[in-house]
Amino acid sequence: MAENKRDYYEVLGVSKTASADEIKKAYRQCAKKYHPDLNPGDKEAEKKFKEANEAYEVLSDEQKKARYDQYGHAGVDSNFGAGGGFGGFDFGDAFDLGDILGSFFGGGFGGGRQRSNPNAPRKGSTIQASVTLSFEEAAKGCKKTVKINRVDVCSECGGNGCKKGTQPETCSTCGGRGQVTVQQRTPFGVMSSTKQCSACGGRGKIIKNPCPKCHGTGAESKPASVDVTIPAGIDDRQALNVRGMGNKGINGGETGDLRVIVNVRPHPFFERDGFDVWCEFVVTFAQAALGDTVYVPTLDGKVKYDLPAGTQPGEVFRFKNKGIQQLGGRGRGNQYVKIIVDVPKNLNGKQREMLREFDKTLENKPKNNIDDGTATEEKKSFFDRFKQ
Ligand SMILES: [Zn+2]
Ligand SMILES: [Zn+2]
Repeated sequence: MAENKRDYYEVLGVSKTASADEIKKAYRQCAKKYHPDLNPGDKEAEKKFKEANEAYEVLSDEQKKARYDQYGHAGVDSNFGAGGGFGGFDFGDAFDLGDILGSFFGGGFGGGRQRSNPNAPRKGSTIQASVTLSFEEAAKGCKKTVKINRVDVCSECGGNGCKKGTQPETCSTCGGRGQVTVQQRTPFGVMSSTKQCSACGGRGKIIKNPCPKCHGTGAESKPASVDVTIPAGIDDRQALNVRGMGNKGINGGETGDLRVIVNVRPHPFFERDGFDVWCEFVVTFAQAALGDTVYVPTLDGKVKYDLPAGTQPGEVFRFKNKGIQQLGGRGRGNQYVKIIVDVPKNLNGKQREMLREFDKTLENKPKNNIDDGTATEEKKSFFDRFKQ
């Protein structure tokens, strides 16, 4: 399945060294070309649009991109490593993983920190995952299922780390106290001091027959799906914290959190500015001059608009409350529509003739281009012609 997929860089038409901005730009171009709204009923375009979305989802996400660069499609396949959401044990969390293992192993991994009290409850570590949304999903809110791998209680031993039918045994060195008292003869008499029991690592218990599944750690990494409600108005690169959906706590400590980083795919014709939406809207020269009833795309579908006669290129119209829902439900932003006047390029003879006739009838020609006798000839330079 993975072999048949096209290279993601090739899909977006960028080089492997392309910057995040270049990738975004390239995706936008693809989306403009293949968006279903612009190609109704075109199955091939739909396929290309989906392919571009998939490529963008990976290449816009630093972690996914790094895995794709290293392992190709297999690296971002949902079956790879820690699973679709992955996120679990990236570099950012590596220390936390050591932390967890350390405590389960009895202080072997975590260094000095664990020595305080290995039986003390500690909150589970945070899992990081990412989710990619369409522009509309971010604007209006949605529900997404995030796949992660998280540290949970071992399903084989129920967390005690022992082989079935066995129990942790009380440490015979410390009698289960986790601490031993050492007596030393000194010139001033017998001094006694307390230190952590080295036989059990301070836990007071010893696992003689470790569970074959978790090797005595009592913990297991399990795939999980978490349903996340994404609030309307969330923006690209913002993160959501889902409490209690992270890694299991230690010694009965609170479960950690899940941190979901949101990627938003750029839209082919909408652009976001805070909670406002901008778009360009192309009209013909005649529509601009005469006015017309036009249908402008918004997040709520097309909206009828009476374009006034004499609309100028670059003029901006506002649709109140047609923008993005503000986070926390404080109303919506606006949509701004910038008018682009399409100047016809390939007129036929008859059209040219009509337009010349029309031009002759104009009474108020712009005064700035009338010959006042001071004009000199400006030849187009070689480079100007070359550019054209
Ligand atoms: Zn186990
Ligand atoms: Zn002991």
